[in-house]
Amino acid sequence: MRNTQATKLLFEQSKPGCRGVRLPECDVPERPIDELLPSGAIAEAPPPLPELSEPDVVRHFVNLSTLNMSVDTHFYPLGSCTMKYNPKRNERLSSLPGMVDLHPYQPQQTVQGTLELLWRSQEMLAEIAGLPAVSLQPAAGAHGEMTALLVAAAYFRDRGEKRSVVLIPDGAHGTNPASATMAGMKTVPVRSTNDGYVDLDDLAAKLNDRTAVLMITNPNTLGIFEEKIAEITQIVHAAGGLVYLDGANMNAIMGVTRPGDFGADLMHYNPHKTFGSPHGGGGPGAGPIAVAEHLAPFLPTPIVVKDGDCYRLDYDRPNSIGRVRSFFGTVGVLVRMYCYILTHGGDGLRHVSENAVLCANYLLARVRHFLPVPHGKRCMHEFVASAAKLKADKDISAMDIAKRLLDHGFHAPTVYFPLIVREALMIEPTETESKATLDAFAEALFRVTEESAELLHDAPHTTAVSRPEEVAAARNPILRWTP
Ligand SMILES: *Cc1c(COP(=O)(O)O)cnc(C)c1O
Repeated sequence: MRNTQATKLLFEQSKPGCRGVRLPECDVPERPIDELLPSGAIAEAPPPLPELSEPDVVRHFVNLSTLNMSVDTHFYPLGSCTMKYNPKRNERLSSLPGMVDLHPYQPQQTVQGTLELLWRSQEMLAEIAGLPAVSLQPAAGAHGEMTALLVAAAYFRDRGEKRSVVLIPDGAHGTNPASATMAGMKTVPVRSTNDGYVDLDDLAAKLNDRTAVLMITNPNTLGIFEEKIAEITQIVHAAGGLVYLDGANMNAIMGVTRPGDFGADLMHYNPHKTFGSPHGGGGPGAGPIAVAEHLAPFLPTPIVVKDGDCYRLDYDRPNSIGRVRSFFGTVGVLVRMYCYILTHGGDGLRHVSENAVLCANYLLARVRHFLPVPHGKRCMHEFVASAAKLKADKDISAMDIAKRLLDHGFHAPTVYFPLIVREALMIEPTETESKATLDAFAEALFRVTEESAELLHDAPHTTAVSRPEEVAAARNPILRWTP
């Protein structure tokens, strides 16, 4: 049943005269408002705000919150996004008064604890990456990409080399070419082979003395580990270029291998994916980057450094690209990340990766019987199924399946990404799900593929809103209520 009551606007629920609080009678001499404020600042009439009791308002927002799907309410296999369970302890620790009551302009000697936490975070991220220098500043993964490319550009400028082309495999996340363009570079795509790997011949043909960076995602967006990654990084280096690793898929390899060890020179982390802090709806996130020794001088300023027993922000970095974000970065997210890493420890992080890969392979083995998975017999932490055959045979698209899964109580997988798979459904279960949940999801997915096209074409049937027109909703949002 569609729930329409809960979606009525507060304006529509308004009852004249209703109040949340009533103030006591004034017991001091009143002064007219025009004695207190300049005339232009006084409205002619009160604003037309909704009038409601406090319980009405609380119920409205609590009911609205239940219309959404979240990792705390539903299985959320959104490929590439790593929507894992977020431990509540990390939420509690990041909202301790000593964390949330800090002011970014406090003198450094009064925030030694936070600076120590940030310094330790830099050290831990360097260790996991196998790259020695870290900046915690970028505000999200995409921002980390752009920051790292600015670092690469500064490096080549410093060497007097005119390199401004970024090579990007055709399976890459859309942020990769967008970040390269924002950083003032030119992008050139590199083809994938039919097996879903970077095409080495195409890569070799496109490398030259203009190549600045190869941006590579490993495991790639098909959920496949690039087995020739050492060879790839070698030929890029031989051509004088740098290798950037898009670290969004670190939850498949951390503790098992390190980007620095297979030849990456720069990378970003998505703490809100890999280290399990909440994300969605555009934030909040963080996008720390780790870089090789020869790129360290160009990192954004400031960096947290340790002098004896004291921690301080180092601004004295003459080759730095400068600031990319206000203050210290998204500290709340970094605190959750720090707690997550410490809770698991080195071995624990390896177990996280192993379990993420195990869960994905279990689901892959169940799903491929009824939904083809064109690339790879096995996968890393995610895999990409294709509804192309269902589309041709029964007119059921990836979008139809995604929408109908909501009726079955599951958030949809990522759809239509990566672009190199037709009718793509990109499924990432994460390591925090039980076998029972994975089985229930596989069964629901199977049932959906057996349902009729008519039923699927206007699914979902049970949600407050069915199929909004997505482009119009983004381009022309209606933000003003008119009675
Ligand atoms: C999520 C993601 C990004 C971008 O990260 P944000 O933190 O969302 O900016 C980049 N590449 C890949 C492969 C991703 O999955």
